[in-house]
Amino acid sequence: MLVFLPFTSVVIGMFLSLVFSKRILKPINDLIHATKEVTRGNFDIRVEMTDESNELNDLIYSFNHMVKELGSIEMFRNDFINNFSHEFKTPIVSIKGFAKQLQKDDLSKEQRKEFTDIIISESNRLTHMSSNILLLNKYENQEIISSQTRFSLDEGIRNVLVVLEKEWSQKELTLDLILDEIDYTGNEEMLSQVWMNLITNGIKYSEEYGILTIRCYEEENRVMVQITDYGIGMSEETASHIFEKFYQGDLAHKSQGNGLGLSIVKRILELCGGTIKVESVFGKGTTFLVSLPKGSKAKSG
Ligand code: ADP
Repeated sequence: MLVFLPFTSVVIGMFLSLVFSKRILKPINDLIHATKEVTRGNFDIRVEMTDESNELNDLIYSFNHMVKELGSIEMFRNDFINNFSHEFKTPIVSIKGFAKQLQKDDLSKEQRKEFTDIIISESNRLTHMSSNILLLNKYENQEIISSQTRFSLDEGIRNVLVVLEKEWSQKELTLDLILDEIDYTGNEEMLSQVWMNLITNGIKYSEEYGILTIRCYEEENRVMVQITDYGIGMSEETASHIFEKFYQGDLAHKSQGNGLGLSIVKRILELCGGTIKVESVFGKGTTFLVSLPKGSKAKSG
């Protein structure tokens, strides 16, 4: 009886890893295949959803949705395809690698958790990127601003800081805020996206125990919002490219980003009739200055 025990464990182990590999690897391989098809210009490709409700399934859903949108408006250009496939393929290859590692029988509980955590974080990154592409695509194809209301712009900035509290408090950042009361007419959600992206960057590129300074005030019928961090800063070369799609500065590559945040900011501000300027000193910090017309110059719908 004892002789059979190791044999039985091996058989069970093999069986489990076979089941596991089918369950995890098939959808990942399908995604890799579909990504290759998209880069060849095939926007009809779709990946079959799995039966389970997990990050991988969310990712497949976003991928399919994104390819459908991209296909309908043909937003792909050569540069974009190269950047997109690179940004998309890198995490998928990493997911595949760690899923393969998970198939090994001799993994400790800690290793299993570490590999699963990486797979989840890479999937989240892809989902985040798909959402950003969809958002940018939506704003690029939009010429008018709908759903304009009168709202408190300073309150909008404070709300974003509340949403990001975990991020800035984890880094123990000090917030230095002087937010004048400003009534503004426009699309609240779109402006909130602008503050979200700029403040997220301010936090992301700050050192621990740094200061994040935010000001908003009115100046000659314009609304000015200034966001300053004292973090890694940028070279002139980097600063001249940051509003390009998928552009990421060298120092930023290791941080979780995809180089779309500022492209979205710029497009929203264009739609609002506003502008954005950046002043940055490498190693010292960065200031973004947003200027918006107070009386709405945006085309409304
Ligand atoms: P990402 O998601 O990579 O941050 P963004 O479009 O928001 O993408 O930013 C593009 C690049 O601009 C970043 O990769 C980084 O190099 C640079 N950048 C943006 N904001 C800051 C900042 N506050 N400090 C330093 N560099 C920044």
